[in-house]
Amino acid sequence: MNSNWTTRAINEINADYQRSADTHLIRLALPTFPGIPVYLKDESTHPTGSLKHRLARSLFLYGLCNGWIQEGTTIIEASSGSTAVSEAYFARLLGLPFIAVMPARTAQRKIEQITFYGGRCHFVDNPCEIYAASEALARELNGHYMDQFTFAERATDWRGNNNIAESIFQQMASEPFAIPTHIVMSAGTGGTSATIGRWLRLKGHATRLTVVDPENSVFLDYWRSGDAGLTGTVGSRIEGIGRPRVEPSFMPGVIDDMLRVPDAASVATLQWLERVLGRRAGASTGANMWGVLQLAAKMREEGRQGAIVTLLCDSGERYLDTYYNPVWVKENIGDTRLFSDQISMITG
Ligand SMILES: *Cc1c(COP(=O)(O)O)cnc(C)c1O
Repeated sequence: MNSNWTTRAINEINADYQRSADTHLIRLALPTFPGIPVYLKDESTHPTGSLKHRLARSLFLYGLCNGWIQEGTTIIEASSGSTAVSEAYFARLLGLPFIAVMPARTAQRKIEQITFYGGRCHFVDNPCEIYAASEALARELNGHYMDQFTFAERATDWRGNNNIAESIFQQMASEPFAIPTHIVMSAGTGGTSATIGRWLRLKGHATRLTVVDPENSVFLDYWRSGDAGLTGTVGSRIEGIGRPRVEPSFMPGVIDDMLRVPDAASVATLQWLERVLGRRAGASTGANMWGVLQLAAKMREEGRQGAIVTLLCDSGERYLDTYYNPVWVKENIGDTRLFSDQISMITG
């Protein structure tokens, strides 16, 4: 049975949901790809600025309904930043203390947003340390480690309830190709690709799910080899995606294809996207769009038509001092010109 506090907390989250609107599906007009419309599900417009708003709501409901989160429970999360921003929002909504465990190089803007929502930040030097540090803090404070990397796929209701896949297919209903040929996504927890892939199976859609993976991530090799013990020694440079270990929430069996995206290609694609969209996006969106352009070029070459859908995961305004700072890019990512030239050739 629920305590009064738990009942009120669940009502609070449901009421917040009731006040919220769905995100837009933007159609990109790319004149050099006739008959291949590209769509971006714009997750940057959630109140906390990223697709992690959906995940944070699901994780809080999951924790509350499981009895893991109670009145006064300190919430702890390992994050590259976006999830922490969204969870800080929901923690404040419920009046719970929140601590984010993050790599020291996390974008300053995200740190400010976590603090804005009343959360605290605990930094670790190596991104691989976030898990152990979170567990230790949870033990020490008798708090609850949310553990998005384990629970994302199961906390999200993939069968329906306005999850991101259901929303995309509803918004595509009146388009010339209502069932997209491809959906392209990147993986952080792997929760979003799990939701989309399961939905495609459940509904029997012929849409192929392609997951793009940045450098320094083990997801692609795991998908190919099945070796769940793979680990890396450094973190991904593309915030939000790519992991140094195989996360339990990543579901390889729902993915049709995977594609490695060089980090410099993700950043080059951001610069191109800003010109065609008039907006700035985060680097994971650059990786997604790089994958979209490769698939669109192949379809064009083969004389095929059809829609491609991907996600605009968060806004570039969070990364003005990194991915949108040429000096930072040169020092941390390298030369992007080779990839800018390739994009010009494809989209030219
Ligand atoms: C988390 C995240 C992703 C990946 O989504 P998952 O559902 O965790 O795989 C992509 N981009 C950004 C900015 C993210 O924060």
